[in-house]
Amino acid sequence: MKGNTLKIIDSHFHFRDFKGFNELALAAGHVNSAEHLRQAYAQYHYVHGVVMGNGTLDPEGHVYPEFMSYCIGLDSSGCNDHIEESLPLLEENLKRKQCCGIKLYPGYNHVYIYDSVYDPVYELAKRYDKPVAVHTGLTATANALLKYSHPLTLDEAAVKHPDVQFVMCHIGNPFLQDAIAVLEKNRNVAVDLSGLLEGKIHDMNGFLKAKEGYISMLRDWLCYLNRYDSVMFGTDWPLANLGDYVAFVKAFIPEQYWQAVFFDNANRLYRLGLEA
Ligand SMILES: [Zn+2]
Repeated sequence: MKGNTLKIIDSHFHFRDFKGFNELALAAGHVNSAEHLRQAYAQYHYVHGVVMGNGTLDPEGHVYPEFMSYCIGLDSSGCNDHIEESLPLLEENLKRKQCCGIKLYPGYNHVYIYDSVYDPVYELAKRYDKPVAVHTGLTATANALLKYSHPLTLDEAAVKHPDVQFVMCHIGNPFLQDAIAVLEKNRNVAVDLSGLLEGKIHDMNGFLKAKEGYISMLRDWLCYLNRYDSVMFGTDWPLANLGDYVAFVKAFIPEQYWQAVFFDNANRLYRLGLEA
């Protein structure tokens, strides 16, 4: 780290390809464009972001600026009923350096992530040595089903596929206790802290005070877990403001772990090869 500036990697955000994103970005005090993100990244010392991909599996549909990497997403439009057929395109993505992992969307997809239908996906993750990030916890749409996105589902997947590196997105929020149990038991599961804020927070001190109980739960469970080498900063942008999110996470991660949580862990687990 040069000087005192903490470099930040956003290990979980979404970019461009969803309806309603322009409005979400505006509500969070941003604009949904690469140019705006470049400026906001500079302002808040973000150096890189990992896009959680949605939509097409065609590599041509995943073109991003150089300060972004992406996880190729198997969402409900990504032929979940036809995993076998989608494997060649999935592999084409994994061959690319800019593709740093796979993203699964259980809950939105009505399939358990340990279902054998995903076995060939995990085989590819192993072969290309790239993590599998898994949506866990609450979902943004009402027709999604929480039984598929509950963090406990990751326990069975992690046991079944011990050589795969998993990332539990959103720390299973609000099933925090179950999420921590899965993380404590399974060394091959890391966690990202994205998706816990929404919109622009105009009075951060007031917010932190009002949410004191929740924030202390996050702090206490992560302290109990004591695996700060597996915890990654992430925002779920465009849902939240980039400046707010840094202040929020700093409120429950002890300062001695900021370097690991805000930069080192994502750089190592997603093999981004960025200079510290
Ligand atoms: Zn997300």
